[in-house]
Amino acid sequence: MARILVIEDEQDISGLIRYNLEKEGHHLAVSHNGEEGLAQARTFKPELVVLDLMLPGMQGLDVLRRMKADDRLKHAPVIILSAKASETDRIIGLEIGADDYVMKPFSVKELASRVKAVLRRAAAPETGPKIFTCKGLVVDFDSVSVKLNGKPVHLSPYEFKILGFLALHPGRAWSREELLSNVWKDDAFVQPRTVDVHIRRLRALIEKDAKKPFYIQTVRGFGYIFGVEP
Ligand code: CA
Repeated sequence: MARILVIEDEQDISGLIRYNLEKEGHHLAVSHNGEEGLAQARTFKPELVVLDLMLPGMQGLDVLRRMKADDRLKHAPVIILSAKASETDRIIGLEIGADDYVMKPFSVKELASRVKAVLRRAAAPETGPKIFTCKGLVVDFDSVSVKLNGKPVHLSPYEFKILGFLALHPGRAWSREELLSNVWKDDAFVQPRTVDVHIRRLRALIEKDAKKPFYIQTVRGFGYIFGVEP
């Protein structure tokens, strides 16, 4: 069951999509043009967007570009609705970062099965190392557990997520805002300071000397970096 935003100007089509996806148990919001759709995406925080390309005012591809350039929206998968006439737009759409497309006219059944497939893909863990090891620190993404020099370290879910995220990108500095949007995703109530609080607790648990951190280092005036090569 997901929050799905439909951006489609033809009301009979958006109505049909809403009716059928709500029947499957999803929570729907509908916008009838691109500007409204972008604004609604920021408040509704959809887990999937169904986007028509031919819209009045801002075109669907511009909506998609803006979504993918917005840290708060870029994670939501997008299914493009496209008329046969706009074949090139469809290809451009996939290049910009849409996840799938459905050609108009479409059957509701087909759209529903694409929705299911895209949501399933989005829920699957990112491919990558299942276990990360670095100088005595072991982060196991399968069992969601951490060991330090062979001893288990008990982390809260967000502490694990933040450590896992940083460890998956050793040597890359992240700003607090980037960490918020990647780790906390759509929780609007967290502040950049929350990141500092979690890092402090994390350091107390995994660093030998929390004042001179070895794994998670501070990048002054910016954010944090997993500073050691695995
Ligand atoms: Ca249209």
